[in-house]
Amino acid sequence: MLAAVLASALAMTTIVAVRYLVTSGLFAWATGKVRPGHYAGLDAQIRREIGWSLASAAIYGVPAGVVVWGWRQQGWTRIYTDLADYPLWWLPVSLLVYLFLHDTWFYWTHRLMHRPKWFRIAHAVHHASRPPTAWAAMSFHPIEALTGALVIPALVFFVPIHVGVLGLVLAIMTVMGVTNHMGWEMFPRALVHSRAGNWLITASHHQRHHDEYRCNYGLYFRFWDRLCNTDKGLAATKAAPNPAASPS
Ligand SMILES: [Zn+2]
Ligand SMILES: [Zn+2]
Repeated sequence: MLAAVLASALAMTTIVAVRYLVTSGLFAWATGKVRPGHYAGLDAQIRREIGWSLASAAIYGVPAGVVVWGWRQQGWTRIYTDLADYPLWWLPVSLLVYLFLHDTWFYWTHRLMHRPKWFRIAHAVHHASRPPTAWAAMSFHPIEALTGALVIPALVFFVPIHVGVLGLVLAIMTVMGVTNHMGWEMFPRALVHSRAGNWLITASHHQRHHDEYRCNYGLYFRFWDRLCNTDKGLAATKAAPNPAASPS
């Protein structure tokens, strides 16, 4: 039994690490195309980001592996595979419930980690990326990684979710974690500056957190930031310099 749990933990760690390398690698490559030179001079920082992120992969992978083993072998969790088990409307609602609960947990733990003592202990690693890159998505001190690693594995014990929706939650978590740090906005202005954009967090919003520290703490939604008056809006757009337009 112990061997099976360990194998599951190792498998999930590998999956999380490969998922990180592929996703961050893809968006780092895209950054090189869209904003050439954007990561110039950041090689040493990027190496640190990758190191911390791979350590985080193990911290995320172990609890996930234990829960996957328990789900498959012991019937733990409320993950379901038969669409008929719950009404179809629960599929989109459960997606929003998971994202909202994850966002709530993140907002409040993140705010706590901006208290000076906790910042030094647990969160300074993440903010050592100045400016962050696509590789910073999981660049966390192990204590911060642990706070992030436990939330979804805990939720699956309480809130029913179809395995496909759970995959979607993890995909959104991964892509937004990477793109919010990559230093440019990939979503069209029409969305970012729309009414929906006023409630969603994308790179323009999280960038401002990294610029100014004491604002914009949320993960997916601006709900808590707005409610608690910590929302400072979007970072000033950093347009790529246009040599042809500059006066000489
Ligand atoms: Zn960040
Ligand atoms: Zn922070």
